[in-house]
Amino acid sequence: MWDGVIIGGGLAGLVAGIRASERGKKLMLVAEGTGSLTYSSGALDIGAIDLLQRSEKHPYALLQEKSIRDGLAYFQTLFPEYRENAEKPPLVLTPLGSCRTGGLAPAGLIADRLSQVRNIVLMAPKGMKDFFASVVKANLEKEFCQSTVRIYPFQVSAFASWYQVGRPVNGIEYARFWRTETGMQELGRLLGELTQDIEGSSVAVVFPGLTRVFSESLQKLLAQFPFPVVEMTDMSPAFGGDILHEALKRKFKELGGEMMIGSGVWQADCEGKTCQQVRVKSKGRDSILKAKEFILATGGVFGGGVEVTPTGAQEKVLKIPLFLPSEWTQAQFLREQPYARLGVEVDAALRPLDPQSGELIFKNVRVVGRMLAHWDPWVEFCGGGVSVATGWLAGETL
Ligand SMILES: Cc1cc2nc3c(=O)[nH]c(=O)nc-3n(C[C@H](O)[C@H](O)[C@H](O)COP(=O)(O)OP(=O)(O)OC[C@H]3O[C@@H](n4cnc5c(N)ncnc54)[C@H](O)[C@@H]3O)c2cc1C
Repeated sequence: MWDGVIIGGGLAGLVAGIRASERGKKLMLVAEGTGSLTYSSGALDIGAIDLLQRSEKHPYALLQEKSIRDGLAYFQTLFPEYRENAEKPPLVLTPLGSCRTGGLAPAGLIADRLSQVRNIVLMAPKGMKDFFASVVKANLEKEFCQSTVRIYPFQVSAFASWYQVGRPVNGIEYARFWRTETGMQELGRLLGELTQDIEGSSVAVVFPGLTRVFSESLQKLLAQFPFPVVEMTDMSPAFGGDILHEALKRKFKELGGEMMIGSGVWQADCEGKTCQQVRVKSKGRDSILKAKEFILATGGVFGGGVEVTPTGAQEKVLKIPLFLPSEWTQAQFLREQPYARLGVEVDAALRPLDPQSGELIFKNVRVVGRMLAHWDPWVEFCGGGVSVATGWLAGETL
């Protein structure tokens, strides 16, 4: 029997697993797929905690401010390269070169430094998919109007045959290449040439398709040059989110957590308000996992934890009744869409409640991350923050 089984291996499930393993719990994590981290930029949006805490039933309103702050601080102790400044959230560059606030972001992405220089060099990797140098230049000029922006086109020998046949190189492929030995040599040579070419000292370099987080050698290499190198976030799927996902899995395993990846929980066996075991389809066979406690981290509609049918929506594993908004969508495409707030209602300990009666459904289940009701990462910009804070709380109390 496990101390806990975590269903779902995205940001929320992994943070819960890491914290609970650190506290000595024996855990199994079951994940059908990768979840949404691999699509995200790697910068975790936190949102306006003070404001959202006042929004009824929002996950931030259920958690005490201290729990939210402790959860975010815990994430930073796991990954000190991630920086947050509660007073002044850091800026990061979008794939189009405009700025947005980055919440909890790896140091290489933080773009605030660009407001302190007079010259920005925009690196333009040949054939990079979804990278439009002239658009990025125009946006950088708008954001940092004290600076002149120069485009610096370059190509990489490793992708010569791709360029020849017109095959685009996406940001993930460039980012992976720079982390290889050959890539680092080529990067050193490229930035060395740029150093010769640059006049004056008030210079910063903006570099799309480069991610230095979790690579000490790349960080050391970049620190050798006399200018700051600022990374850009990438279009989905993005290397920044993917590499964070790998780092989280590594930490969980190092702490003794066990994982079944590529396996889905398809049924739970429950008695009264207690979930006793879950059934997992793995390599064509059924396995049964018994545990004292369960964490449901299946990520809502996008993560695969909610099945949407023409008549409604259903939580797939434990069949927990969902909060469903009365209106599903609204006509203006880019405005808030009500369905984003569907999910499981919980108490302050993250245990599931019946949305009609308010009654507790399971005593030994905690629900975390995107599966929770009453929040919307797209308009509240708090996707990473809610997942980290609720994941941490579940791991802390399991
Ligand atoms: C395209 C996109 C881009 C985003 N970009 C950002 C960003 O830049 N910054 C930010 O802060 N937030 C971003 N978000 C939001 C953020 O990624 C999510 O809020 C957060 O990662 C949700 O984490 P989660 O662990 O709750 O769910 P998920 O990451 O969705 O993980 C769910 C997990 O559950 C598994 N699962 C589902 N059903 C089962 C089952 N039956 N059995 C076993 N496993 C199952 C899935 O395979 C997956 O492993 C983005 C979201 C999307 C969709």
